[in-house]
Amino acid sequence: MIWSPAPYPWPDGRRAAACFSVDVDALSPYLWATRDARPDTIAVPEHRMAGMRRGLSRMTDMLARLDVRGSFFVPAVVARENPGLLPGLVERGHEVALHGDWHEQVGDISDQQFTDALEASVEVFVAQTGQRPTGFRSPAWEMTPHMLRELRRLDLWDSSLMGDDVPYDIEGVTELPVRWDIDDAIFFKFLGAGDRAPRSHLEIGEGWSSELSSARRHGTLFMMTVHDWICGRPARIDMLEDLWREIVDSPDIWVATCGDLARHHRGLTERPRHALTQLPVHSSKGSSDD
Ligand SMILES: [Zn+2]
Repeated sequence: MIWSPAPYPWPDGRRAAACFSVDVDALSPYLWATRDARPDTIAVPEHRMAGMRRGLSRMTDMLARLDVRGSFFVPAVVARENPGLLPGLVERGHEVALHGDWHEQVGDISDQQFTDALEASVEVFVAQTGQRPTGFRSPAWEMTPHMLRELRRLDLWDSSLMGDDVPYDIEGVTELPVRWDIDDAIFFKFLGAGDRAPRSHLEIGEGWSSELSSARRHGTLFMMTVHDWICGRPARIDMLEDLWREIVDSPDIWVATCGDLARHHRGLTERPRHALTQLPVHSSKGSSDD
């Protein structure tokens, strides 16, 4: 039998939903990767800082022109280094949410280190904004059962997994699913040696516009993820503004923050709920690479 889910009930009879999410990583992935041995070279930190210097304001100016509220995920170290950042985003009407302390990669840390980083980040957000954050996105979108349990314990929604095309419950956590192919990093992130050349914004804009049409047709969530240091460059901002102009001009699309989506989802009595997939164990436990 094929599981045939009911269409997701978006509010006010809307056909689909769209969310503009930004991961304000700034230097944090670099700080994490070089935590044991920091090189003398400055090109990567300079490149990343272009977002804080110009890309982020270009992005918030664009959102103001569109009258769209975004969801900004900020590692705590970035908030500590830029104490005006979280209050500035909140003042402009945007939502701020957790994204690790030092943008820790899940595979590098223990369960306890994750819990410590999460609790330390919540404290920074409360101290800087006066509000308790309501949601989390995992650096690099990896997750463990322990992390889900901790998010549930702290009553945080999550936006890191891809187990459905609409919001869903997993282990008691509200999941607002992301998509690699509506993320700017895989197409545009280029840090020199070894990286694939960045794709054209014209080509990717066309692909995203087609994703949007399909989200409307299939009644799904268009969860866009961008980075200020990647998509804050002029031509990419113009591409995003054209795409999001189409979204705000479409009355059948609900433009929502992650918090709006989570609140709506939790208010539904009938909503997608998925259990963690139990992985069958193969009888021969040997390892093979082929
Ligand atoms: Zn990130």
